[in-house]
Amino acid sequence: MVEDWLDEAPEVTISALEHWSYCPRQCALIYVEQVWDENQFTIRGTVAHEKVDAGDREIMRGVHLVRAIPLWSERLGLSGKADLVEFRPQGPYPVEYKVGRRRGEHAEIQLCAQALCLEEMLQTAVPRGAVFHHAERRRYEVEFDAALRARTEATVAAVREMLRTQNLPQAPNDARCPRCSLINACLPGVVAERSRLGGLQGTLYRLWEAEPPDAVWGRAAPAAVIAEDEEGDGVEDDDA
Ligand code: SF4
Repeated sequence: MVEDWLDEAPEVTISALEHWSYCPRQCALIYVEQVWDENQFTIRGTVAHEKVDAGDREIMRGVHLVRAIPLWSERLGLSGKADLVEFRPQGPYPVEYKVGRRRGEHAEIQLCAQALCLEEMLQTAVPRGAVFHHAERRRYEVEFDAALRARTEATVAAVREMLRTQNLPQAPNDARCPRCSLINACLPGVVAERSRLGGLQGTLYRLWEAEPPDAVWGRAAPAAVIAEDEEGDGVEDDDA
C-alpha cells in the first residue's frame, strides 16, 4: 500500500499525476530532471489558471465557491491545489479547469486526487466533481467510483517510485509527442531509436578523427575526452 513507504519516499504533487497519466517520461522530465518548456497549450493553460486563481471566494445561488484552495493527504503523501471547490449542501464538489478539449482520463485522475485530499481534510464524502474544458465551454461531471480511486492511488504510487528511483522512462514516441511542450528536451525521435542513439553517442567521441585535438580544443584535449570509445557505447574507457 502507498502508506507503507511514506517514511522513505518523497511527497507527490497532485499536478504530477496528470503528467504521469499523459506520459511517464514527461512527468520524469519535469519532476526529476526539472525541465520545463512552454508551448501554445501550456501558455494558454497558464493564462486560464491565472484567471481562475484571481478570484478568492464568492457565493453563487447560495453555494460557497472557494478558488485556489490548498489540498493535502497525509495518508497518500500528496499535496497540491484545487482550482475551485463548490461547497454544495450535499458536500464539497471540486472543479478542475482545462484549456483544451477532453482527452483521456488524465484530468479525471488529477481531480480524483483532489477529492481524496478533501475527504481526508474535511472528513466527509466527496462522490463527484467536474472538469471544465474551456475549448468546449463544457463541464464533464466525474464520479469518483472505486475503479477511478484505485487508478488514482496506483498513479500516486507510480509517481512516488519514479521520484524515489529518479528513473527516466523510455520515450514512447507516438501521437502524444507533437502536442508535448517538452518535445525539444525529450527528443523522442532520437532516444526511442536505440540504434540511432548509439550511433550518435559514438560520434561524440570521434571529433578528432576529422580534426586533430589541437584544432578542436585549441590545446591538447583532456585525457578523458581523447579516450577511445572502443565499445561504441558512449562511455569513456576506465583506463583513460
Ligand atoms: S515528447 Fe513524447 S515521449 Fe517525450 S515527454 Fe513528451 S509525450 Fe513523452
